[in-house]
Amino acid sequence: MKTCPIQKSSSILILVFLSFNLISQIQAQGKTIPDSKLNLNEQKKDNPMKRTDSDWKRILSPEEYRILRDKGTERAFTGKYDGHFEEGTYKCAGCGNKIFDSESKYRSGCGWPAFSDALPESVAETKDNTMGMARVEITCSKCESHLGHVFNDGPNPTGLRYCINSVSMDFNQEEKK
Ligand SMILES: [Zn+2]
Repeated sequence: MKTCPIQKSSSILILVFLSFNLISQIQAQGKTIPDSKLNLNEQKKDNPMKRTDSDWKRILSPEEYRILRDKGTERAFTGKYDGHFEEGTYKCAGCGNKIFDSESKYRSGCGWPAFSDALPESVAETKDNTMGMARVEITCSKCESHLGHVFNDGPNPTGLRYCINSVSMDFNQEEKK
């Protein structure tokens, strides 16, 4: 019976240890759940770019809607930025997100504005197997509007050709500093 006090004290220790663990687990859950998952949802809810289809129809012209929201394509060699080579920034016509710098624009001869690179994290890529072709669609990373496609026949150093509809973009001339 000499071992009894030791057993008692060690079981108390284990109990204390277990309940401490449980409390810290609950505290950790209380901290991590709203900070991670719930905040992400909140951001999506607050996102001003989360527009409904009727919002887009109201905001955009019929041609802009056809291309930006219905993944259409403007006719080759008709876009206002095809032969446009001023210095500045090209922005998404749907939300104003800066997507291309004029430094990356080049004459591809394909009939649409072409860029060798997009601004970091400005666009998203999706596989597109419509029209009997295996292409990669480019959309705005903020408002998910359709911009064009990217091909791997562009100039160095990227080797990429971002083939973008003029209708999908607005242009901001570089301000002189
Ligand atoms: Zn956008």
